[in-house]
Amino acid sequence: MSSLQKLQEGNKRFASGKPVHPDETLKRLRELKGGQHPFAVVVSCSDSRVPAELVFDQGLGDIFSIRTAGNVMGDYELGSIEYAVEHLDCKLIVVMGHKSCGAVKAFVDTKGNYDQEDHIKKIVEYIGNEKEENDLVKANKLSMDNAVNANVLHGVNFLKNAEPILKENYEQKKITIIGAVYDIETGKVTFEKIK
Ligand SMILES: [Zn+2]
Repeated sequence: MSSLQKLQEGNKRFASGKPVHPDETLKRLRELKGGQHPFAVVVSCSDSRVPAELVFDQGLGDIFSIRTAGNVMGDYELGSIEYAVEHLDCKLIVVMGHKSCGAVKAFVDTKGNYDQEDHIKKIVEYIGNEKEENDLVKANKLSMDNAVNANVLHGVNFLKNAEPILKENYEQKKITIIGAVYDIETGKVTFEKIK
């Protein structure tokens, strides 16, 4: 079974209310003490309803997880992903947004004119500066669902072009980078079609 199929199968179990909760024991942790070999990197939102291990019914040692509000990525997140690819041999990277994402909503509601001087502003501005979001605004198609999709598309494009390491690995077809959206009502994850 491919890494992507493993995630899809796990999400099917989760969304049907029949998770098996694999790899969650102390025994499993001890098996991993010699080293970790997670089969996927998942970049998702910090939202408490979006933990990758639960959504994909995985456990210890399975997923290399990156989470920020709005799944935005900067140098620290990129460095983390590069580490997973270079040193842990991860070949699948999933950028997973979710419906009703608060960070995306903050952008949609304020159209980027977030007026508080805090660090949340950085996240809202980041999303507001994404080309994919601006294309929506220009086309007069800004809605929550479209904005969530555009934010995921941005994350995927960002990683495919991230030098060094990710861009080269992607172009040499050594890694797969794919977008997905998680529905926080049904629990289902929809993956983009791989071209
Ligand atoms: Zn969110």
